[in-house]
Amino acid sequence: MAAFTASVSRAMPEQAGSLRLWTLANCAAGVAFLLYFLRGHIPFGLSFVGANLAVVCVPALFLHAQARLLGAPARPRLSRWAVALAALSVLPALVDPHLGWLGAVVVSSAIAILAAAIAHLMWTDPQARSLASSRFVGLAAAAAAAAVAWRATSSAWRAVQGMSFDIHTTAPAHTLSLLLGGLFLVAASVSFMSTVHELSRRVIAERARRDGLTGVLTRSAFYDEARQRLAAQTQPRYAVAMIDVDHFKRINDGHGHAAGDQAIVHLAREVSANARSGDLVGRYGGEEFIVLLDGADLAAAHRFGQRLVDSVRQTAVRLPSGQSLSCTVSAGVAEGLPQRTGSSQHLEQTIALADAALYVAKAKGRDRVSSALDNDGLHSASA
Ligand code: GH3
Ligand code: MG
Ligand code: MG
Repeated sequence: MAAFTASVSRAMPEQAGSLRLWTLANCAAGVAFLLYFLRGHIPFGLSFVGANLAVVCVPALFLHAQARLLGAPARPRLSRWAVALAALSVLPALVDPHLGWLGAVVVSSAIAILAAAIAHLMWTDPQARSLASSRFVGLAAAAAAAAVAWRATSSAWRAVQGMSFDIHTTAPAHTLSLLLGGLFLVAASVSFMSTVHELSRRVIAERARRDGLTGVLTRSAFYDEARQRLAAQTQPRYAVAMIDVDHFKRINDGHGHAAGDQAIVHLAREVSANARSGDLVGRYGGEEFIVLLDGADLAAAHRFGQRLVDSVRQTAVRLPSGQSLSCTVSAGVAEGLPQRTGSSQHLEQTIALADAALYVAKAKGRDRVSSALDNDGLHSASA
């Protein structure tokens, strides 16, 4: 498993950090298994203390790997405390092997707490909740936490009852735990790889929806998302704004296409900054942007357009050469009402009205916003 995840980490640089942690977790599990099976053939201190320390590192590293993969907080203090406590508790067994119960109880408790932390992460992280593989890891971690906690309680109970802790008499229980642990490792590794695969697929799909130059939605992704929103009717109303840079050919001709590109990136930022977080911003074509203003009426859309036009006029584009460039935009806005049937056609109609309003703004001298007054199909627009 460790060799497999290590080789995959080379092919997936974006997930390499979490895959390396997962590899380390599997290595720690391998060390723990090896030391356990060598018990009786190597010094007790090494087989008992070493194996217990290695085994408590496994859930700690699993927790870090999962948190890194999901971009969630890794709770390093919890892991440090768990490993440190486990280390302190196994040391007395070096002096007297009958004190091994103390190590067994604390190590089991530490594993149970870390497994519970993994289950909690899978339960609370929104991304993990949306993935079947993570939900499975969460369930398996919760089951492991319960089983190990039960084992810790029974060991402590035996110690309180004065039953001696003999490493040889507890061997069958150990073997069963190791077998279950091994099964858990394999299942968790397969689920982890499946999570890695699903998250990479989502990243690639998201990248394909974004325009390479500006990072806003591509035209087709904008249409897809807008149609979905309108079909879901999350808001009673919406408006569309079409924005076009004024005399953009002059920027290209006067400063070169690289400067033109820089201006497009700057404008995409301006559009996004003036829109609200719930609005959809897309690159409609060349230097044209489109915005779906969720919940906005015509007046609110006009205010948005005016804010944007003023903001673009007042902020200069900084070129790599150090020069700064001023430009203006024109905007056309139209209001639409979502309908459960034919919403796609309705969206296109609203876009056509916003486009017509944009041309009115251009005709009236540019650097302004125009509103489409009629959204029933009569393509009239005014400033
Ligand atoms: P108007 O005020 O009427 O809009 O005048 P305009 O010069 O902006 O006219 P138009 O909108 O038709 O010009 C669009 C120009 O944008 C044409 C094309 O050369 C340029 N363009 C389109 N896509 C890109 C791009 O990705 N990068 C750059 N640098 N230029 C682009
Ligand atoms: Mg244009
Ligand atoms: Mg233009």
